[in-house]
Amino acid sequence: MKHFFWTMIYTLLALALCCGCSIQDRPGNADGGQGDGADGQQNVQSADTPWQYVDTAMGTVVQQTVYAPDQETAQAFSAQAMELLWGLEKEISWRLDTSEVYRANVTSGSEGGFLLSEELAGLLESGLELSRRSEGAFDMTLGSVTRLWNIDEWAAENGAEGFPIPSREELARALSVCGYEKLRLQREAGDQEEKGQCRLFLPEGMQLDLGAIGKGLGLSELTSMLEGQNAVTGAVISLGGSILTYGSKPDGSTWKVGIIDPFDKSSNIGILSLEGQWCVSTSGDYERYVEVDGVRYHHILDPKTGTPAVSDVRGVTVLLKDGLLSDGLSTACFILGPEKGMALAAEYGAEALFILSDGEVVLSEGMEQYYTAIR
Ligand code: AMP
Ligand code: MG
Repeated sequence: MKHFFWTMIYTLLALALCCGCSIQDRPGNADGGQGDGADGQQNVQSADTPWQYVDTAMGTVVQQTVYAPDQETAQAFSAQAMELLWGLEKEISWRLDTSEVYRANVTSGSEGGFLLSEELAGLLESGLELSRRSEGAFDMTLGSVTRLWNIDEWAAENGAEGFPIPSREELARALSVCGYEKLRLQREAGDQEEKGQCRLFLPEGMQLDLGAIGKGLGLSELTSMLEGQNAVTGAVISLGGSILTYGSKPDGSTWKVGIIDPFDKSSNIGILSLEGQWCVSTSGDYERYVEVDGVRYHHILDPKTGTPAVSDVRGVTVLLKDGLLSDGLSTACFILGPEKGMALAAEYGAEALFILSDGEVVLSEGMEQYYTAIR
């Protein structure tokens, strides 16, 4: 925990030093992206200059680039955005006993089930739909297995030292209580105006983990927040591998979102040029992993085996207006690979970009208009 804390503090300090509180937009650099290293060369404030803020939420660094008429407006917006993300984390993190997901998980195996808020009910319904359409590649019921691996926390805090690889028996036991088909959502009959209340029944031992859609949901909610106001005219908000673009820049140029190179995380393999509101989500085996004896144990699990997905894909980026779905789809597409993944993305009207193990970049047809390769 200590190591993780200090790593986060150093990252924040480095970013804050690079960005300051307000920096000039950097020509030629990406506006957002996991590999976006701010260089902050020219610290000149003008009407065309965005305000930048860095903080943490949902176990990752949050970077905000905000175009607003003045600092007060930008700061108020950024504070409100952080409140939204922290509030969401408190509701959907399985680790926090404040959360609705935590309280739902406690009722696993109970006959009465758990009465869901409309927000969580809607989220689970969308997640189940994605599970069905992805033939189970995306599965929110893997909680018992993700906990056993604990790769997210281990990668952030401990490195490879002493990493406990779960035994076959442990995995088989944990996997036996997973499976989206075994989760039951029961809606009471509603009227035309309102849906009836929804009750969740988790079989004994089943635990929800919404890690694959949480950040995307954050982007969807931030989009609604931005659409409900008019002081902020443009913004890019990055939450780890999920990035939201919104509105426009005063000079009319497009948003630039960097696609990280899985073979060299310090650089981008290409840039997406986007206009207006988009959600860009990336899932990759280089994001959170522990390497032991040359084997990479990463955080995206194959629900069929309970082990890190073996794939000829290093990273997938999905582009869609909806954040929740772009996030869920990037996880599902990583497991499905380019062929099935492309078909699934197309079903949702999403564009996709796959970086394969041999370095080849495969784009959906619609993605080509947004993507520029850097090398
Ligand atoms: P992402 O980085 O968006 O691809 O999400 C990965 C996170 O989702 C992991 O850290 C787990 O918490 C969870 N997860 C892992 N494998 C799956 C899966 N097959 N389906 C749904 N969630 C998963
Ligand atoms: Mg995801």
